[in-house]
Amino acid sequence: MTTGRVLVLNCGSSSIKYQLIDVAEGSALAEGLAERIGEPDGHLRHQGTDGEVVRDNPIPDHVSGMRAILAAFEEAGPELARSDLAAVGHRVVHGGERFEDPTLIDDGVVDAVDDLATLAPLHNPANATGIRVARKVLPDLPHVAVFDTAFHHTLPPHASTYAVPPAWRADHGVRRYGFHGTSVAHVSREACRLLGREVDDCNLIVLHLGNGASATAIAGGRSIDTSMGLTPLEGLVMGTRSGDVDPAVIAYLHRVADVSVQDVDDQLNRDSGLLGLAGANDMREVHRRADAGSQDAQLALDVYCYRLRKYVGAYYAALGRVDAIVFTAGIGENDAEVRARSLAGLERLGVVIDPARNASARRDARSISPDGADVAVLVVPTNEELEIARQALAVARA
Ligand code: ADP
Repeated sequence: MTTGRVLVLNCGSSSIKYQLIDVAEGSALAEGLAERIGEPDGHLRHQGTDGEVVRDNPIPDHVSGMRAILAAFEEAGPELARSDLAAVGHRVVHGGERFEDPTLIDDGVVDAVDDLATLAPLHNPANATGIRVARKVLPDLPHVAVFDTAFHHTLPPHASTYAVPPAWRADHGVRRYGFHGTSVAHVSREACRLLGREVDDCNLIVLHLGNGASATAIAGGRSIDTSMGLTPLEGLVMGTRSGDVDPAVIAYLHRVADVSVQDVDDQLNRDSGLLGLAGANDMREVHRRADAGSQDAQLALDVYCYRLRKYVGAYYAALGRVDAIVFTAGIGENDAEVRARSLAGLERLGVVIDPARNASARRDARSISPDGADVAVLVVPTNEELEIARQALAVARA
């Protein structure tokens, strides 16, 4: 196995999240977050090998944020200069059609990440800023971009193509790209390990259910369909995103309520999903409200679980044979009720959950179906940072 340490950076418009990962150990040696960059009340928290650093100072820009992070490493360890740091791995949301693999960064790559801002206006500009700043502050290390979309470059044309006019597709790249790729790559490899089977011999449906949520059908290690599309808005019900709606909703609201296209888009992304249905985007709060008798919260759970079941059925049909259904991320890993409700009634497809295993408080990768079930149902914790570190190290050492 390749050994070495990788600093994994996930840069948002006002935050830098990071972990220092020891790839062979599969664990984080340090982690932290610089947030509210550019606002008066900047905040930095670093958990290192020698303790914690917390700073509440303004962080004017991302360069100061990166410098504050490096200072926190100096103070609370481990010392980066002496820590066998092999690479910096950058999470990049959209790789478009150009990036099918993790990529060693040069100036052209940073510009291309910026150019893809048309497809991911909320994420790619911040990712590009993070890369520029980190290359400036850590110039002697290889920097590697790991794209959320890359795992889905294997989508066959019948799954990636929308039935829209040719100019949209040819001139503007309108197609299904898919997201959550690093999570799905990690989780599907762990799932095959748990099943004791080779990756290329495994058909899986991976349900990544966090604040964002997606379903992916994987045949022999290759993504063959996925629920997120041109952007992360399509597919399952999410914390604040609607998932699937009739695209005519946009023109309809514009016509009857004079809402601008931009406002409809914002509201589908920020005010919909669990928040739109139940008034809360956190699934734990949705359960609390449903248990307290809220009809809205109960409906939110019904819609959430029904949408999941529809995608499981669709991907079962797409795959033909399913070896395992895999739940991951905050809701997938922790919410036994959502798991049970979304797979209820699928016994004829060989999908059965063992209630005691499903209710177990175990946190490790595990099966929650009965022994010998036709389709295994698994819960596998995701670890996107470790996957980014692995991929970045492989590129840096190639
Ligand atoms: P992100 O996409 O931001 O990484 P996470 O994977 O952390 O999100 O998932 C966040 C979601 O997980 C939230 O809706 C949260 O309510 C939910 N969640 C976390 N713990 C539990 C739990 N014990 N039961 C139900 N939902 C949970």
